[in-house]
Amino acid sequence: MPVTPPIAAYLPYGSVGEPRANLRCGLIPRAFLAQIIDHFGAALPNEAAAFIVWDEDDRRFLLDFPQIDQATPSRLVYRTPVLPGNRHIVCDIHSHGHGRAFFSATDDADDAHATKIALVIGRLGGPDSPEFASRLCAGGMFLPLPRSPFEGYGHDA
Ligand SMILES: [Zn+2]
Repeated sequence: MPVTPPIAAYLPYGSVGEPRANLRCGLIPRAFLAQIIDHFGAALPNEAAAFIVWDEDDRRFLLDFPQIDQATPSRLVYRTPVLPGNRHIVCDIHSHGHGRAFFSATDDADDAHATKIALVIGRLGGPDSPEFASRLCAGGMFLPLPRSPFEGYGHDA
């Protein structure tokens, strides 16, 4: 991913090419997303959260529903799991309940110090549900994701 605007000078590194996001863990099985959406739907009208974790030793994904300290329809306080060195947080996902999917000022503050994919799922339980917002958080930057990290999706989720 380009992390700065292009520099207007000759640089010896070649072309950056098209934006792409190749995850070392590969794409996340789509069944995880269905499970998360079910979990978020069951928590309505409150917000809820989930983490997708990758175990690099056995190369498996795990779903982690974190400890929730506070959940209301407009506020959620949850704890990022503390993982052993061989496990990595790939996605930090939370719902906005019936509300729109977007990154709030609180989300920006929460994501400022992490390297992960952040996903917000909103408009749950409605006729045109759900709605997704996603970004890559890295080094304090929020970068657009060129594609969904889940198997079987193009650019939408
Ligand atoms: Zn949020």
